[in-house]
Amino acid sequence: MTNMSIVRFACGSSPRLCRSRTSFMVKSTCQYSATAVEEKANEQSSKYDLVVIGGGSGGLACAKEAAHLGAKVAVLDYVTPSPRGSKWGLGGTCVNVGCIPKKLMHHAALLGEAVHDARAYGWVLPEKAKVMHNWEVLRNAVQDHIKSVNWVTRVELRNNKENVEPSVPNASAFHDSENHLIRRKNKRTIDYINGRGYFHSSHVVNAVLNNGKERSLNAEKVLIAVGGRPRYPDIPGALEHCITSDDIFSLARPPGRTLIVGAGYIGLECAGFLNGLGYDATVMVRSVPLRGFDQQIAQLLCGEMEERGVKFLHKCIPTRVEKLENGQLKVTWSNVKDSSLQSDVFDTVLFAVGRRALTKELAVTTAGVHTEKESGKIRTDNEQTNIPHIFAVGDVLHEKPELTPVAIQAGKLLAHRLFNGGSEVMDYHNVATTVFTPLEYGTVGFSEERAVELFGEDKLEVYHAFYKPTEFSVPQRNASRCYIKVICEREKPHKVLGMHFVGPQAGEVIQGFAAAMKCGLTMDLLKTTVGIHPTTAEEFTRVFVTKRSGLDPTPQSCCS
Ligand code: FAD
Ligand code: NAP
Repeated sequence: MTNMSIVRFACGSSPRLCRSRTSFMVKSTCQYSATAVEEKANEQSSKYDLVVIGGGSGGLACAKEAAHLGAKVAVLDYVTPSPRGSKWGLGGTCVNVGCIPKKLMHHAALLGEAVHDARAYGWVLPEKAKVMHNWEVLRNAVQDHIKSVNWVTRVELRNNKENVEPSVPNASAFHDSENHLIRRKNKRTIDYINGRGYFHSSHVVNAVLNNGKERSLNAEKVLIAVGGRPRYPDIPGALEHCITSDDIFSLARPPGRTLIVGAGYIGLECAGFLNGLGYDATVMVRSVPLRGFDQQIAQLLCGEMEERGVKFLHKCIPTRVEKLENGQLKVTWSNVKDSSLQSDVFDTVLFAVGRRALTKELAVTTAGVHTEKESGKIRTDNEQTNIPHIFAVGDVLHEKPELTPVAIQAGKLLAHRLFNGGSEVMDYHNVATTVFTPLEYGTVGFSEERAVELFGEDKLEVYHAFYKPTEFSVPQRNASRCYIKVICEREKPHKVLGMHFVGPQAGEVIQGFAAAMKCGLTMDLLKTTVGIHPTTAEEFTRVFVTKRSGLDPTPQSCCS
């Protein structure tokens, strides 16, 4: 029942007639009953089957799927500006300050390389020094794309309000036992609220709106999908003068000479594209680059980056950042081995030292939800928190991959379990990923170190090969770090446990092999798979040298 129809019923007249009455008595009675009933109606309209806190990859995926299944859903999204003042629209980290702008800047850097390769392929171009890059043009193009995605995301949510048949045939299954929901089974309803959510109680989520007012939402179920934000080290000058990935993609000025602190995914990817765009980039590494990844591969990636001009400061941590009169930043750092101090001057300092979950701001403890002491992340059992009607997906989860497709898949499956009687749970194992360093790295399954730790060296066979992408030959590009590795069980049928690919388009290559691994890929099957020639992915079908054999893994011939 809509607000209007409730008012009509209470006045015993149409709202129009009600407004036209002249008698004070009649008018005031009408107003009284209308207000009371409107309040009731508002109360009704603030009751939701699912309230999602966080309109990023995981939250939106779950909200949309739940609405498709007939649930009444509200999504709250709010972006607290970064310490440098960067803010953005609906869609979360991936769209605004993560995967998408990163991939576009990575591609921009690769195009710079391609321009130089093009000369060898016969393109007549200005001499190398005259091929320039314009930061403002790139930044504006990236930001325009982001805004178009923000807009489409909002339109998608609005369109969810139209009457449409549920996409899932048995969508009514859940509703059969819930009479009040049956009415809504053909309606996808998502209320998008641009407000900061926090728990008032375990079933009531308050939204602090932009005008400072608060709105209370009654939730039968709540999904926490608030993701995380970059951490800053607790050193003088960090918050005042430095930036993070929240700021780099919208930076008003060209970054210039940049120090990137942190050698995880974000640190290496940012250093890679900044160097590729022509900026002087230095990475400060505390322990080892890409800790947790296959370390042989991490070394190859860093070697490649170094050769392309990226500098590395190993075993160092920053201790202070000071702004000089000319606006540059003087960074002092300490060597973790001997505590010796050193300093240098940069135009930009970018911290990529990990991300913190946004659960404190959400007052999760008010709802009784437990969080991990150190990280603030939430431990769940199939996305269910310790409070049975409160769920969580995405980056906010403890010990789960912080990746967009993971958040999306978990969100969708959760919606099916909550509103469609589904039983399928998220499989967090063997999730493929790619590090978009200039020479990309795609991987699925175990690193060599982890496989040895779990299975023992004797139980494993490690196949490997260096290879030369055909397109590298004409411009004589260095292919010495194009490498593949397949880790499998030594016992027949040699189940594949991990696959690693370093080379161009690594994400595109590894995606299909991830599906194969999910189907139980064995080395025997891989060896009988016919490759596609001439591609780089076919190298996985040609790999025959084991590390154990000690044979030379460098390429002998191209086509036989
Ligand atoms: P988010 O997308 O972060 O969404 C959470 C939303 O909730 C945000 O909009 C936030 O502002 C909002 N919010 C927070 N608190 C509240 C509150 N109290 N009330 C209302 N709203 C709130 N992953 C990949 O798979 N591939 C990549 O190439 C990749 N590259 C990345 C590059 C960078 C630089 C970064 C930072 C991340 C990258 N990631 C990548 C990771 C990916 O972006 C995240 O895993 C993904 O966005 C997580 O989705 P989420 O829904 O958990 O959270
Ligand atoms: P991360 O991978 O955890 O790396 C953090 C880095 O910062 C590590 O090298 C760490 O060193 C270092 N560090 C931490 N504290 C430090 C300090 N005080 N001083 C100096 N160095 C410090 O985090 P991230 O790179 O921020 O990425 C976050 C998540 O985003 C990733 O886990 C990933 O899932 C996701 N992401 C994915 C992609 C992709 O799919 N391509 C891209 C970007 C991000 P130690 O190793 O010594 O701790």
